[in-house]
Amino acid sequence: MKIRDDFLYYSRPYFDEDEINAVTDVLRSGWWTKGKVTVEFEERFAKLVGAKYALAVNSCTAALHLALAVYGICEGDEVITTPMTFCSTVNTILNCGAKPVFVDVDAETGLIDPNEIEKAITERTKAILPVHYAGLVCDMDRINKIAEKHGLKVIEDAAHGLTSEYKGKQVGSFGNATAYSFYVTKNLATGEGGMLTSDDKDFIDRARVLSLHGMSRDAWKRYGAKSSWKYAVEEAGFKYNITDIASALGVEQLNKLDKMQSIRKEYARIYDERFADCPYVSRVKPADDFVESSEHLYILKLNLDTLIIDRDEFIEKLADYNVGTSVHFIPLHLQPLYRRVLNTKEGDYPRCEAFYNRIISLPLYPSMTGDDVNYVADAVCEIAAKFGK
Ligand SMILES: *Cc1c(COP(=O)(O)O)cnc(C)c1O
Repeated sequence: MKIRDDFLYYSRPYFDEDEINAVTDVLRSGWWTKGKVTVEFEERFAKLVGAKYALAVNSCTAALHLALAVYGICEGDEVITTPMTFCSTVNTILNCGAKPVFVDVDAETGLIDPNEIEKAITERTKAILPVHYAGLVCDMDRINKIAEKHGLKVIEDAAHGLTSEYKGKQVGSFGNATAYSFYVTKNLATGEGGMLTSDDKDFIDRARVLSLHGMSRDAWKRYGAKSSWKYAVEEAGFKYNITDIASALGVEQLNKLDKMQSIRKEYARIYDERFADCPYVSRVKPADDFVESSEHLYILKLNLDTLIIDRDEFIEKLADYNVGTSVHFIPLHLQPLYRRVLNTKEGDYPRCEAFYNRIISLPLYPSMTGDDVNYVADAVCEIAAKFGK
């Protein structure tokens, strides 16, 4: 095959004049920080995912940190989570002074294993933090049951899970605190941004106060035409509020979400079809037919025993074809920070490590073309055939 001249980026946002106009409208209005556009974004988002309340913030990391803080997670507490995630999931636990407790993942899906969660519970355990990895959904019936039995909170990291479904219900509608990311690579992008959802009004009210210094009223209410200048600082909060500039992007991206998702799913289907006859690779996909993935990531799994090259070399070969890739994720227990503070080491979570050694995230985003998708598939198949045993 002929190698393309330009480099295919691993990810790029999907937008048009609607986003540009929405942002310039906010700029012209002069209300750049959190205001009425954010209120619209929150209300529409809550409705979309089937949660009662939503709080827009400036990242998923902020949403996770707020959830832990509202639940009073602090020194001496343990939070059970997965090593197959982004560092921010676990750093928020450390930043509360609590101890992250990793448990191993399912060998095929990379999702946290509920059996391992049960084994890891101690009298210090306060919460479970499952990650809906790649857009697959964790076994929420099991996880919610375990949490109920042991009196634990559940905080869902749904950075990949927007529009994912489990038994016909959307992620965000399981009654737990749920955190979303609108980082530029995610299914809905605002550059930087995030959302915390919940069915508990008191929880979201408290998170709202903590998201803006612990002040009892936000700027919109304070500086609105008829409202009071008075505010009270209730506790040492954070500065996590989103801007209306970002929320304007969010509202326009919500308008396009169905379209973006249908393109994403079509591209994932093309990859599936193209790899169906290729014995060297498979993909990370839901283990149960009652899970509908958001297709956030297309994670190729190399069948390593059929290849004479390893994952790192496979990525280099794809780069030679001008294809950008990524790996989600380097297991956290192998990172220097957690080795140091949690004493983790190679071999601690063998299924996670074996999974990691096989995976490559391929480009999958609505602003690439169908030809791009087929080009990537051609490159994967050609490399696999060349280096297959
Ligand atoms: C992107 C991501 C986050 C962090 O989201 P931010 O909005 O960048 O803070 C958290 N968890 C997972 C699994 C992610 O992929």
